[in-house]
Amino acid sequence: MRILDLSLTGFRNYADFSCAFEPGVNLIVGQNAQGKTNLLEAICYLSRGTAFRTRKEAELIRFGAEYAELSARVQSFGREQTMRAVMFAGRRPRQLFLSGVKKPSREDLNGVLTTVLFCPEDLLVLKKGAAERRKLLDDALCQLRPKYALALEEYRKLLAQKAAVLRARIDRPEMLELIPDYNERMAQTGAILITTRAKYLRQLAERAAAHHETFSGGLERLTLTYQTVSTVTDPTAPALEVYARLKDHQASHYRAEVESMQCLSGPHKDDFEAALNGLPMKAFGSQGQTRTAAISLKLAERDIFEDDTGELPVLLLDDVLSELDPGRQDFVLNRIRRGQVFITCCEQEKVTDLGKSIHIENGAIL
Ligand code: ATP
Ligand code: MG
Repeated sequence: MRILDLSLTGFRNYADFSCAFEPGVNLIVGQNAQGKTNLLEAICYLSRGTAFRTRKEAELIRFGAEYAELSARVQSFGREQTMRAVMFAGRRPRQLFLSGVKKPSREDLNGVLTTVLFCPEDLLVLKKGAAERRKLLDDALCQLRPKYALALEEYRKLLAQKAAVLRARIDRPEMLELIPDYNERMAQTGAILITTRAKYLRQLAERAAAHHETFSGGLERLTLTYQTVSTVTDPTAPALEVYARLKDHQASHYRAEVESMQCLSGPHKDDFEAALNGLPMKAFGSQGQTRTAAISLKLAERDIFEDDTGELPVLLLDDVLSELDPGRQDFVLNRIRRGQVFITCCEQEKVTDLGKSIHIENGAIL
């Protein structure tokens, strides 16, 4: 899978941009704030239908521009296809096209261009809060399993509505009659989220452990364990069973939810624990161990995408190499020899002999 070329009009700091890419390593080189990350963001947007730095589409449109247009020719599954997205300032909804045909939703573009993104924040993902680790799983699964993306969207909507109902009960207690219906639907979609995540994490754990073991010279065994509501003892059990356990949890937490006016039951607080030789990394992982494990997770993500779809996803490395010591840099570079890779870096760095360099200055190719 690879991107042949990309054109941008009115996207972030790009007024009018067009560039062809190498099948291997593409280095996006430039000083700070010139548009390197913006370029990766454009690729990500076409691939996933969402931006990775913001949820607000308006921020993606160049200041003062009426619209932003992104288009790329992509080679995937032996076919050349064009992907195009147009966003408008104001209320008009964005439009997506695949090889000239307008597509109603982003799920229709799913799988055409899959991307694995790795940025400096990800290096600390095992030390941060649960939200970051959920995002790691959700971002991957939204690309791999279109049904998961729909379930996640549905769950988020239900969660927001249920929270609003719980808050509204002060003035209108009769609102609570709506809760059983919300609980039913949230147990159904929640069971899909939990089982899909837990199964994916099992795959991820196996692959990541192999990378981490090599990197630590066989000394460290990395394990990942999914953590969800207490009544779900086996998150990889069939969805119907997890659904039943979620209903139990909801029932036992109903009073607490009404009193606190918050949603306390469901997978929206889920997490996973990473451990090295049995010691939880969040508490005991050293800086280097944490970083190495995070790299292993990302490399594992790429492996799974390849196993699952039969094509190697495009790898986007935003500024990560500069955050790594030479040993870790080599480890990453040795394992990304195959497939198409985009690497952003600043001019003074020593990585510029890896592949084709594309020099960016102020939203234009130098
Ligand atoms: P660094 O090396 O610091 O990470 P970078 O090259 O990755 O820099 P980007 O994040 O890609 O930089 O680009 C940042 C620049 O893009 C900022 O100067 C910002 O003001 C500009 N920018 C962001 N959004 C828009 C927009 N909607 N319209 C115009 N310019 C924008
Ligand atoms: Mg950047």
